[in-house]
Amino acid sequence: MPTIAIVGAGVAGLHLALHLQKEGLDVSLYEERTPDEIRTGRLPSTVGLSLLTRERQRALGVAHWEGPEHATSTIRIRVAAEPPIDFVGRLADQALFIDMRVYLPRLLEDFVARGGRVVRASLDAAGVRGLGAAHDLVVVATGRAGLTDLFPRVPERSPHAAPMRRLFAGIVRGLRMPPGPMEFMFQLSPGHGEIFENQYITLGGIVPSLLIEAIPGGALEPITRMRYEDDPARFDAALLDAVLAHAPLTAERVDRASFGVAGPRDYLTGAVTPVVRRAYAPLGGERFALALGDLHITHDPITGQGANMATLAASLAAEQIAGQAAAGAAFDEAFCADLEDRLWNGLRAATEWTNAFLLPPPDHALALLVAAARSQKVADAFTTNFSYPDRQWAILSSPEATASFIASHA
Ligand SMILES: Cc1cc2nc3c(=O)[nH]c(=O)nc-3n(C[C@H](O)[C@H](O)[C@H](O)COP(=O)(O)OP(=O)(O)OC[C@H]3O[C@@H](n4cnc5c(N)ncnc54)[C@H](O)[C@@H]3O)c2cc1C
Repeated sequence: MPTIAIVGAGVAGLHLALHLQKEGLDVSLYEERTPDEIRTGRLPSTVGLSLLTRERQRALGVAHWEGPEHATSTIRIRVAAEPPIDFVGRLADQALFIDMRVYLPRLLEDFVARGGRVVRASLDAAGVRGLGAAHDLVVVATGRAGLTDLFPRVPERSPHAAPMRRLFAGIVRGLRMPPGPMEFMFQLSPGHGEIFENQYITLGGIVPSLLIEAIPGGALEPITRMRYEDDPARFDAALLDAVLAHAPLTAERVDRASFGVAGPRDYLTGAVTPVVRRAYAPLGGERFALALGDLHITHDPITGQGANMATLAASLAAEQIAGQAAAGAAFDEAFCADLEDRLWNGLRAATEWTNAFLLPPPDHALALLVAAARSQKVADAFTTNFSYPDRQWAILSSPEATASFIASHA
């Protein structure tokens, strides 16, 4: 039986490891952090998992968050315009907003409980080559910042050479959750960026979280360059100002006296450069490494596609790896090149849509938002399609396609 090494127990590495384990393959998972270190670490993201990821985790037997209290079933979108564009779309399929500090350790423990082998190691490029000597295939899923030198950027698939947004994400206190079922809120402040609010499953229960996508040079940028640790009161005041000025749906539920970041580890600031890298690299001796998840394709979080595309990529890779193993065939360059094509075909729409969404919206995209505010059917279809990037990009990639979508739904 071939042996597979996976480096990185993020959502990509874990979904792949659990899938291959289910297929009965010999998998070793190399991860630099223990489950407890992940649990007690800094907030890494504010991830919403779509129906398709939820179906994948059900198939893997790791759907631990299935109660009605865990599901988000509407998306409210508001654009600051005169008059504002404001609508609520009902999702055909519910989303799961969950702290990766809850999700990843739980799946890692599932993998171990089922007999999976986890090696605690922080690997560099030489370490990955070393794994290549001992395994038939190495899959590297170390996220957007780990081991990137092994996999060159593909310029023709990477239109942005620098971050298009600066980010703040955090779990907050002093914000009353909206009454009724959980709702994801998407507030656009033209020229400044976007503020997202959701109710988030964390170790401490379900609490509000915010993501600010700040356009560089706009009024939301300063908070993304501050450090809470330097002056917590100043940081919280700046966050409050940003919410009051640019997130009216959130501002109406803020308690000004107590509003702020929940704790020093409960926020992140920074920026993401969207990139597509080559999906495989030679390790010498006829062995290859595959790149998976953010390491292969990094999406800006603006459309909520990164983790969902990582689980899609893991599922596509697992099927091909299991098929190759069953056939007794080698994980050679032809196998890797074929998988790279399959991954690009599967992820391309999400990547192109996300990269386009980072630019000022074209008129036809604004027309779609206006149509959604007038027609519940358009609103429901548009918001549901955040789970279906192929459909969403097919609709948004040309004025004609958008017009035909509006005409058929309005
Ligand atoms: C603010 C924010 C909001 C987001 N919102 C969404 C959203 O709503 N929906 C969505 O789908 N996506 C979202 N994303 C994107 C999502 O977080 C990523 O796409 C996803 O986490 C990528 O998973 P990954 O497994 O590729 O990498 P990671 O989650 O980064 O995991 C990499 C793993 O590799 C380990 N590792 C790293 N280097 C090494 C090494 N050298 N040796 C051993 N182990 C190593 C790390 O410890 C980590 O466990 C968001 C991201 C951010 C920043």
